[in-house]
Amino acid sequence: MLEAIGCGWFSKDETPAEATAPASVSTPGSPPAPTTQWRSRSFLLRGGSPVEIRFPADDSAAADEGAVIDAILVGLTAVLDTLSIDDPVPLTVYVHPDVRSQLRLTGKGGEGHADVTRKEIHVLHAEPPVVEAMASHEGTHVLAHHALGPPGTTLMDEGLAVWVADAYGGRSLSAWALDLAQTVDRRTLVGPGFEEAPESEAYPFAGLFVRAAVRTVGLAAVREHLVPATPETWDAALAAAGTSHAALVAAVAP
Ligand SMILES: [Zn+2]
Repeated sequence: MLEAIGCGWFSKDETPAEATAPASVSTPGSPPAPTTQWRSRSFLLRGGSPVEIRFPADDSAAADEGAVIDAILVGLTAVLDTLSIDDPVPLTVYVHPDVRSQLRLTGKGGEGHADVTRKEIHVLHAEPPVVEAMASHEGTHVLAHHALGPPGTTLMDEGLAVWVADAYGGRSLSAWALDLAQTVDRRTLVGPGFEEAPESEAYPFAGLFVRAAVRTVGLAAVREHLVPATPETWDAALAAAGTSHAALVAAVAP
């Protein structure tokens, strides 16, 4: 089940902007690009910040398109509410009909991804609750990056996204807390060990760690101290926030 979810749903796109061309237009004489036209729907998030939700133009509107749009807007609004973001950047959301289409158009597999630089997220057309979680997760990567500043660790980058979505791999964070595997030293997850650890351990741990941090020191201190902290400044940042790595790891434990 977890393997079926895959990392793409949860991975941040580090690809340079020019590597993706989701809205390219074919020119006369050239072979037709994959799906190149999009239908756009425009919405406003709180504060009047625009959100463009795009569906492939050749993908006739599904019966549940309205519900999918609602789920995206609910998921993005949850990002603003949970992280206290008042002035979000404009965002573009691409809804792909399936993994193959997303891969063909963006070079990215999985069930969604975020491109922080282009201020866009890609999700799959799925059941509305799944879309809502994807929009919250991927939307956090973009909206938090621009509102809070670049995260200093993958632990905080993914942790914020998992915490805001309150889920990973279709399970709630509270469910994960009951039986979270521990095969790696939690300390290594602050650094490059995060990418080396099993995703089904690192991602829910990150979300639970952020949840514990918010409960312990409050969201404002998490935003000010923990989000920008690098592995090198980690302990000093947690001390400045009034806690410690060990204390928060202990707070994660069921
Ligand atoms: Zn992610």
